[in-house]
Amino acid sequence: MRAIFLGTADGHTSARREHSGILIQTEETSFLLDCGAAAARYLLHKKVDVEVPEMLWISHMHSDHNGQVSSLIQSLWLRTRRAPLHVFGPSEVLLAIKDWLEKCLLFPELIGFPIEWHPVKPGKAYLHGPFKLTPFATQHLTSLASHFKRAYPNTCFDCYGLLLEYKGKRYVYSADLAHPVELLPALKGGKVTALLCELTHFPERELFKEVAKYPVQSVWVTHYPDHLVKREEELRQIAREEKFRGEVHLMHDKVAQEI
Ligand SMILES: [Zn+2]
Repeated sequence: MRAIFLGTADGHTSARREHSGILIQTEETSFLLDCGAAAARYLLHKKVDVEVPEMLWISHMHSDHNGQVSSLIQSLWLRTRRAPLHVFGPSEVLLAIKDWLEKCLLFPELIGFPIEWHPVKPGKAYLHGPFKLTPFATQHLTSLASHFKRAYPNTCFDCYGLLLEYKGKRYVYSADLAHPVELLPALKGGKVTALLCELTHFPERELFKEVAKYPVQSVWVTHYPDHLVKREEELRQIAREEKFRGEVHLMHDKVAQEI
């Protein structure tokens, strides 16, 4: 499986890096995990087939994770895509995105390809093509919800990470977390080949302290602040101190990697 890190910045604007987006490619399919990076420009620049991505995951409503969805759809429309796009995420997130696309004049009858909406629930497995997807809920927006949910009942405060199983291997995408302990549902079930993990909402040490408890073979750090850009070795040192024995990689924008 190949992962292309389209953007590795966190929610702060970075002068050099884009917001969240990881394009997963296998021989059978393609899956974009969040759409905060300018995916449309990347796909055009790299002359990637217009039927890519086949699947899209939207973890939550922060715009560094979904702000480029309408640009992507507009681009796929104008590049005359025909294959369906399968969009997965919390059900209220999908409703909001669907509504936003209408507001952006991207009507289903106009764009020339169907968008199939797949609302998911934490802990429930979904089979799609060669993948088994099992979402898990994170606490990323729990504190915000406690302050604002009452005043904004129509806003979605869910955030879902993802356990992705492919050809007998397990891969985990953290989405955004309040704390790495929330990865437990995805990490507890056996060997994890690769954990694609954010590193901005908790101290670096907490991540490695937590993952050291599980058989995680590699951690691919993304969604991190600018001050970490040149500190990969330091992260590895922290991981060793916390007795994490897997590989640690700090990812950079547009880097394609076998995971
Ligand atoms: Zn967020």
